[in-house]
Amino acid sequence: MITTKYHSASEIGNNAWKISESGMVNCYLLLGNSGALLIDTGIGLGNVKEIIDKITALPITVVLTHMHPDHAGGLSHFHEYYVMKEDFAMSYSFLSMPVFSRIMIKMSKIKDPIMPKLFYHSVRHELIDGQMFNLGGRTVHAMAVPGHTKGSAVFIDDANKMIFTGDDINISLWMHLPGCTGMKTWQTGAKQIIEYFEKGYSGWDGHSEGQQTEEQVKTTYHLSEELIQEAEEGTLDKKENFIPNKDTFHQIRYQPKRILQ
Ligand SMILES: [Zn+2]
Repeated sequence: MITTKYHSASEIGNNAWKISESGMVNCYLLLGNSGALLIDTGIGLGNVKEIIDKITALPITVVLTHMHPDHAGGLSHFHEYYVMKEDFAMSYSFLSMPVFSRIMIKMSKIKDPIMPKLFYHSVRHELIDGQMFNLGGRTVHAMAVPGHTKGSAVFIDDANKMIFTGDDINISLWMHLPGCTGMKTWQTGAKQIIEYFEKGYSGWDGHSEGQQTEEQVKTTYHLSEELIQEAEEGTLDKKENFIPNKDTFHQIRYQPKRILQ
């Protein structure tokens, strides 16, 4: 384990690192022979680049699973990044402004939080579905999974059988936010993710302490099936927005009117 003030990094596979930002959010760093891929950048607490520098001196390519402030908050430590164009929309750019990262950090009650001033205005590039990142002896590709945001993406390392799922199929799946797709749209990508678990890939998300399990992703999917069935039968409680409820994990938080979309 390597630690800095706000970050801790642990090796979770062959030259693959999980970087936890104060237990609130995870980034992942995959190393090849000639480059490294950083999946997400955290909330922006401290400087995520400091812990990366302790792990590797390779040039870093930054990709985002989606444009939420707890994943895009550290972007200003890097010159450029890739995100799907569906997350270019104003609603996501607005939500990923540093002010929201600061609010999240204040709410987290972290002692002595330091958010450095912006280093760079990071240049945005469009991430394409299927885009390959060749890190030298290691390739990782992106797969579009519209759901938690319209431009959500997962990253897949086939040789090492790893999939990085961001917030798209978490133990607590948030589908109630502005900019989430409907539940039916989400299911298409979720099914594709589940196929990787069935093929024995290890899964890593944006907030869990450990590895995701096939049981977890399938339970989350099953909850979405229940919601869709209730919506189709007209038995959905329109005042409820958690299934099974807000104190139970696994759970989905949703917008009743978007279930069938
Ligand atoms: Zn998110």
